[in-house]
Amino acid sequence: MDRKHFLSRSLQAAAGMALAPSILRAASSTAAPGGEGLRFEQAPLPYPFEALEPHIDTLTMQVHYGKHHAAYVKNANEALAAEAVPATSAEQLFGTIGAVSTKLRNNAGGAWNHDLFWSSMAPGKGGTPLGKVGDALNGAFGSFDKFKEVFTGAAMSRFGSGWAWLVVHEGNLTIGSTPNQDNPLMEVSELKGRPLLGLDVWEHAYYLKYQNKRNEYVAAWWNLVNWDAVAGRLG
Ligand code: MN
Repeated sequence: MDRKHFLSRSLQAAAGMALAPSILRAASSTAAPGGEGLRFEQAPLPYPFEALEPHIDTLTMQVHYGKHHAAYVKNANEALAAEAVPATSAEQLFGTIGAVSTKLRNNAGGAWNHDLFWSSMAPGKGGTPLGKVGDALNGAFGSFDKFKEVFTGAAMSRFGSGWAWLVVHEGNLTIGSTPNQDNPLMEVSELKGRPLLGLDVWEHAYYLKYQNKRNEYVAAWWNLVNWDAVAGRLG
């Protein structure tokens, strides 16, 4: 990768971070057949496919972003066009997700969750967060190590496909998980809150490199967590 390309990707990443809540950008003004409405857009990956090596391998990133995530976005938009949903933002849609098709629920969740996931990682990150995130985690969980332990537990105990989350709910930081592509913004979700950090524990997120060893994937992922992005969401 040449320097110019790198700078351009870095600027995209910086721009993406500044607009963090606009992972809710899903509300685009693109006109749909039959009228204007909510449409999802796949945000550019804020780093090259190979940037997360060795923790997440290049092929996994290519397939995960280029195929899985792209398909969620395409299928969510197909369902939105077919179902005449009145929501104009992703949050609004998730707040009434019990009223739409399973196709829309699964794919809208997949579209949104992955944008959060990509922007929650960056090469050369990880470590222990300082400042307000560090303080908030210490306050809620006692220590950063304890937070990691509880979050890892949520990621490991989610049976089958799903996500582990750190959310803020009614002023409190909470950890939990959701099945499939559900997220804590969905009215149907047992875990409720505004996501600060999400970890994809679908096998498609790690199987090529880690096979059945989800624990090794989760352990490696901590080296990529972009605490600056989490701080931006914490507000
Ligand atoms: Mn995924």
